[in-house]
Amino acid sequence: MNKKVYIETYGCQMNVADSEVVVSILSKAGFVQTENIKDAGLILINTCSIRDNAEQRIWGRLNAISHLKKQKNDLKIGIIGCMAERLKEKLIETQHLVDIVVGPDAYRELPLLVSEAEAGHKAVNVLLSREETYADISPVRMDKNGVSSFVSIMRGCNNMCAYCVVPYVRGAERSRYPESVLEEAKELFEMGYREVTLLGQNVDSYNWVSNNEIVGFPELLEKVAMIDPGLRVRFSTSHPKDISDSLLTTISRYNNICKHIHLPAQSGSSRILNLMNREYTREWYMDRVNSIRTLIPGCSLSTDMITGFCTETEEDHKESLSLMEWAGFDFAYMFKYNERPGTKAARKYKDDVPETIKSERLSEMIALQNKLSIKSKKSDIGMVFDVLIEGFSKRSVEYLSGRTSQNKVVVFPADDFKKGDYIKVLIERCTAATLIGRSV
Ligand code: SAM
Ligand code: SF4
Repeated sequence: MNKKVYIETYGCQMNVADSEVVVSILSKAGFVQTENIKDAGLILINTCSIRDNAEQRIWGRLNAISHLKKQKNDLKIGIIGCMAERLKEKLIETQHLVDIVVGPDAYRELPLLVSEAEAGHKAVNVLLSREETYADISPVRMDKNGVSSFVSIMRGCNNMCAYCVVPYVRGAERSRYPESVLEEAKELFEMGYREVTLLGQNVDSYNWVSNNEIVGFPELLEKVAMIDPGLRVRFSTSHPKDISDSLLTTISRYNNICKHIHLPAQSGSSRILNLMNREYTREWYMDRVNSIRTLIPGCSLSTDMITGFCTETEEDHKESLSLMEWAGFDFAYMFKYNERPGTKAARKYKDDVPETIKSERLSEMIALQNKLSIKSKKSDIGMVFDVLIEGFSKRSVEYLSGRTSQNKVVVFPADDFKKGDYIKVLIERCTAATLIGRSV
């Protein structure tokens, strides 16, 4: 078989990290990665199921590559990840194009499944596992900048938010052996990387128990931060119900733990939060933000918001807006509620907010967040930040681009600096998305 594999990744950072594991597993079986889809003997699409439009994109993509299969008889196409888990029958039965369907916990089986497909069978494994963390697999880095990378510290989710498909497609939560996380982060630092982002659906519930040790997320974060002061550490995602003062204190104690927390609120209405099964109230969320402000001065805060969840009234929506304004989020991902088959909300509640109202509320939310994001950037003008350089700016090779600890993008004249350097930048002005300054 033509052992060139082309992999395309959709969805969250977790999928990016998973694709790196997949490439590592396949390279041990003699495959080499190609950037050119036309050269490939195996095309893998790592999919996302979080909202319907994510899945529609994948169906569209399958259509778009169907001609390749006609041109090359021996080409094998695999759908891997969340959509494989959710739609295994549909994918196999209706898509003659698809030879291989593999869920997120079965990637070790990929070489075997590819052989099955080679032998002319449809190859499927979507078994979820209670143990699989791919802890021993050293991912093949696919990021382009060589400065920042992701390290997955846990898989799955036990939270059962009423709207969310993740627990169904990625299974129960399990934490990765801490030594393997540390090894991976150390290896990255030695390779020249200067930033790692520790990934999990709810990093605050990271928990490793062995005979003589219990490691929670604050301990793990501290261990990673101690690898080297020159290695920046980020993490995502925190859950408001679990984020502890002990974690906030750890963040404040280490200069290299980035001062940015992504804390998805989803809604500002306690009634809606209860229906969403988020297990916190508006007041609890505000209390957590107050603790962040007290324990980590200068910390930036971002969030995820959903508009138009089942039964959401104008009043509930106003509460979401007022929470956003109160918190002064530096950044937000905002979504219209999208009913996902099989979730608690789909089974028990009516998706009763009309699409037009969802869109209106989303536009209002985006307009507010734009205002907040600009305010947040303007407040940085005149200040000096430590910036980790990630590469040239998109617009010009005379400028470099990097990030502050607060995760804001900064552009400045390149001079003799290079990516991977830390420099101090005085912020002189800003656009809606970027801070602009000069080194000092
Ligand atoms: N585990 C993280 C959390 O709890 O915040 C992130 C989960 S999910 C991959 C990312 C975001 O997608 C969620 O925070 C939520 O805002 C959004 N999301 C999930 N399900 C959704 C749905 N059915 N409709 C609209 N947005 C959804
Ligand atoms: Fe989904 Fe909630 Fe788990 Fe996040 S915490 S992945 S929103 S179920």
